[in-house]
Amino acid sequence: MADLILHWHRRDLRITDNIALYSARRKSSKVVGVFCLDPGILRREDVAPARATYMIESLRELQESYLQAGSQLLIFQGLPTEVLPAIAVGLGAKAVVWNKDVEPYSRDRDRTVAAALREAGIEVETFWDQLLHAPKEIMTGAGQAYTVYTPFWRNWNAQPKAQPVEPLQNVEGLNDAEQQIAETVGAIALPTAHDLGFGWDNELPLHPGAQAAQECLEQFCDRALNEYREQRDFPAIAGTSRLSAALKFGTIGIRTVWATSRAVYEEARSDETRANVQVWHQELAWREFYQHVMYFFPELAEGAYRLPLKTFPWEGNPDHFQAWCDGMTGYPIVDAAMRQMNEIGWMHNRCRMIVASFLTKDLILDFRLGEKYFMQKLMDWDLSANNGGWQWSASSGMDPKPLRIFNPASQAQKFDADAEYIRQWLPELRSLDTAMLVTGMIPQRDRDRCNYPAAIVDHKIQQARFKVLYQNQKVLS
Ligand SMILES: Cc1cc2nc3c(=O)[nH]c(=O)nc-3n(C[C@H](O)[C@H](O)[C@H](O)COP(=O)(O)OP(=O)(O)OC[C@H]3O[C@@H](n4cnc5c(N)ncnc54)[C@H](O)[C@@H]3O)c2cc1C
Repeated sequence: MADLILHWHRRDLRITDNIALYSARRKSSKVVGVFCLDPGILRREDVAPARATYMIESLRELQESYLQAGSQLLIFQGLPTEVLPAIAVGLGAKAVVWNKDVEPYSRDRDRTVAAALREAGIEVETFWDQLLHAPKEIMTGAGQAYTVYTPFWRNWNAQPKAQPVEPLQNVEGLNDAEQQIAETVGAIALPTAHDLGFGWDNELPLHPGAQAAQECLEQFCDRALNEYREQRDFPAIAGTSRLSAALKFGTIGIRTVWATSRAVYEEARSDETRANVQVWHQELAWREFYQHVMYFFPELAEGAYRLPLKTFPWEGNPDHFQAWCDGMTGYPIVDAAMRQMNEIGWMHNRCRMIVASFLTKDLILDFRLGEKYFMQKLMDWDLSANNGGWQWSASSGMDPKPLRIFNPASQAQKFDADAEYIRQWLPELRSLDTAMLVTGMIPQRDRDRCNYPAAIVDHKIQQARFKVLYQNQKVLS
């Protein structure tokens, strides 16, 4: 009889191009998937309902994929530190395998799970899967972790990349008696997101599951990738891949993403196309850079990295924060972006930068407030990318350029010149002139008529105030 190997799924909700799963299949013909609905992660106030819905629906498809391959995906609700040893011992598994993560919570949890399994005599094998290059593979000449993106990118881009691995197939699952044991240990039917308390009735802008992720990648590589450099900054245009949730939950393998986009590069007839692909690859490298720095500097997850910002005297106006959350600051581009996120659980990258700059530099509010709010709303929320984006915007991270302040009006004039995006998300302002919408210079009578608030702060004044506070901090630190 074949040895049973359990594959513990976490951020790899697919059976295709999955390194640990592929390795398990090479060792045995009997491979069963396990997923834990971890109460340590599913704390309701921290989880965006759209994200929970994406995850659950991706798991539903994953269960189907396991059945088609000949096995099953077991679902448990409980702490992995308890569930994994219990099910592995209960089923007499020879080994448990999984793909590693960079986040502090996951690394601590994984160490505890591995120790408990080994103590019970069960083998543990772990792999890097979610990155093209694992931490420690891309280091400076002096053997240090990079803290600056550009040299990281050059080194990362120059390294050869692995090819996708074969999908799980022709595999054996649990027999009836073993299935019974799994249920005794606590295996349950997959609940809905609603069952778990996450109500989300809108359509998801990024479709769950591996099949949708693959289609999304192919469509993007066929079309928008060819114009990515010119179009990626315009929020009214579908000029980016919208693969972020797929990459967060691993409904697509990063090697597949690389191979598909690299083929566009290889087959390109113009330097222009190659340049577009290269710019997109730089975004994939940002994703990896932020995961590497989270791995080497886990203290980033707790707060500012740069000294002047570590003890910054942030202002704590709760009304300002609430107005920002609700998309009611009186700055149309900021409000449109916040309403987009509140309504669909996703926001365009340009707008993430605009609203993050506004929260930190105009409202002078602690970036961690915004970081947490994004966590509660984004379906693609990822600790490393979100923290990296917020620290970049707050000028508190690794970024060598210290002060970056976005002017909402110039941003709108440049990236939403026809106010198409603003009109889409602020329907109450649709009838106003484009010039008013992009500059934000809307007369009070029009604001009253449209039931739209006055600007809660003055950008020029706040920008000057922030600069003074920042200089004072620099002197002190
Ligand atoms: C304040 C702030 C918060 C952010 N929070 C998140 C987050 O929680 N989760 C998240 O995935 N991205 C986050 N980003 C990065 C970026 O906004 C999103 O990855 C991007 O908008 C997703 O859209 P896309 O898939 O169409 O991206 P594309 O432009 O098609 O990029 C392809 C992929 O590269 C990665 N990527 C692109 N830009 C970045 C970046 N700046 N940093 C890290 N990875 C990047 C993503 O995985 C993305 O799917 C944040 C950015 C900012 C400024």
